[in-house]
Amino acid sequence: MPTENAKRTVLIIGAGPGGLTLANALQRKGVACMVFERNLKTLQHDIGAGFSLATGRIWLEQIFGPEKKHRLSKIMTPVNEFRVVEDEETNGESEGKLLGRYNLGSIPKIKKQLNGPLLAGTTRSCLMNVLNDNLHPGTLRLGWECRNITENEDGTLTVRFDVTTTAGGEKETRTEVGAVVVGADGIHSKVRELMFGPRTLGTYNQAVWLLLKRNIPPEVLDFSKEENQACWMLATKKGSGIGIVGYPTSPTDFEMCYAYKLSNEQKNNSTQNGNGRTWQSARYGSAASREEALERMKKCPGVLGKVARLVESPQELIHISLGDASLSLDVDAWHMGRVVIIGDAPHAPTPLAGQGCNSAIGDACVLAKHLHRAFELIDQEQVETNSDKLISEAFLGYEKERKKYGEKVCKQGRHLIRSRIANLAMPQTANSPRNFFEVSARKWLTYLMETLINTFPDTVAHGTIKEIKAGCGKVDFDGGDNDQPHDRHGPRLWTMLGGKGFASRSGN
Ligand SMILES: Cc1cc2nc3c(=O)[nH]c(=O)nc-3n(C[C@H](O)[C@H](O)[C@H](O)COP(=O)(O)OP(=O)(O)OC[C@H]3O[C@@H](n4cnc5c(N)ncnc54)[C@H](O)[C@@H]3O)c2cc1C
Repeated sequence: MPTENAKRTVLIIGAGPGGLTLANALQRKGVACMVFERNLKTLQHDIGAGFSLATGRIWLEQIFGPEKKHRLSKIMTPVNEFRVVEDEETNGESEGKLLGRYNLGSIPKIKKQLNGPLLAGTTRSCLMNVLNDNLHPGTLRLGWECRNITENEDGTLTVRFDVTTTAGGEKETRTEVGAVVVGADGIHSKVRELMFGPRTLGTYNQAVWLLLKRNIPPEVLDFSKEENQACWMLATKKGSGIGIVGYPTSPTDFEMCYAYKLSNEQKNNSTQNGNGRTWQSARYGSAASREEALERMKKCPGVLGKVARLVESPQELIHISLGDASLSLDVDAWHMGRVVIIGDAPHAPTPLAGQGCNSAIGDACVLAKHLHRAFELIDQEQVETNSDKLISEAFLGYEKERKKYGEKVCKQGRHLIRSRIANLAMPQTANSPRNFFEVSARKWLTYLMETLINTFPDTVAHGTIKEIKAGCGKVDFDGGDNDQPHDRHGPRLWTMLGGKGFASRSGN
């Protein structure tokens, strides 16, 4: 690449929601960028499962602008309602006893003010494809794995990649030069490792199976009907230690995403994660365990069971060990020199918070805004001497807006898992009630939550809109100067009222 181009090019490592959103946001603002993704299959249908988007949808609509908004709506199904269904093994007939309905999504004020639903389900592969389709041709390079980053005398950076174009094929070393490197390479970030050394973000005591059932016939679940645009959560039996949740995702493929979670046993006397604890998540990934999970899903009442019974093989389940979700990176800055990290790399919230994808998208939008400004100023000055300083200021601006928020989302996620009350009111957390009193408490809590939402919809709407807007500042993608102060407060109420649990992570 010619050096002059390199001085204005952003190299993005990782084509997840964070990396591809960043590329879209930068290109929208006229900043050159390339995205390097090690996984050849990343755009294929069988990678990943579902995301629930709240702030993420609002951010993305800003990037796509009104003229392309419909592209996003085509891959998202609104989640209008949460239904808590009591667990009973029905073998197919019963809809199951409804413990509670949280009609948050259908509060008109929310729809109007957020210009769409509070939450929308989509699938990873659909989102990745729509984001990639919107980029200049050739932006994304698949099969490129970042190995090292070095600094050049003129301030630019050289990234070394192992490149392979076919699965299992020969690898060759290639390099690219750019002005800035962004690590959007997920929870096991190589870029983070190059900056701060190897580290695990934290521990998490649950194993998860994900299932993405496609081509669901309308007689089983008709996505066009509003009553089916809901998220079903199973209130499991006393001491069962499992949680099951399902919600519709991309409407065009009639997909429904399931998460089946299981509390794990704690393994003692290990210092592997630096705090003396590891969790036996991996052992649940066996074939027998997978089969058992599917059988359990099939016995669920109502829609959850009906859809699971369409699954032909337990191989369709994806097992995920949630080894190091739920903590943010404990360092002062998320950048070093001209390298910066976004999304899961600096902060990986528990999937139960439903925030991983949303916050990666938000990070990307804010970083794009600051980088664009920095390049504009560098161009105005027409000398490169200040470029290090301006890029560093861009990173500081990004961190100022996003660091506290990222840390807060992780903290709230941990609270959601550990709090007994939250566990009871949100049964998919897998920490099922331990005794008769907790079973009764769950009924009352569900009833209270339903009453609160249905009796005071305006209050709920006001709080939710405020929190969502706080978690999703405005980035003006078309120039002008109407950026608003960003999230000082995380979307606490949103998390508490239902933004949890849908998005589940898949290890990479
Ligand atoms: C394959 C995969 C599937 C997932 N599926 C789901 C899901 O179904 N539902 C859900 O809620 N969450 C899923 N997650 C996690 C969740 O998506 C995250 O919270 C969210 O995606 C964070 O976005 P991100 O862009 O920061 O990182 P990620 O989504 O993790 O994306 C990081 C990308 O970087 C690539 N990468 C990693 N290392 C390198 C390297 N050295 N060089 C080049 N590329 C690299 C990875 O292959 C990956 O595509 C998935 C993650 C991965 C990696």
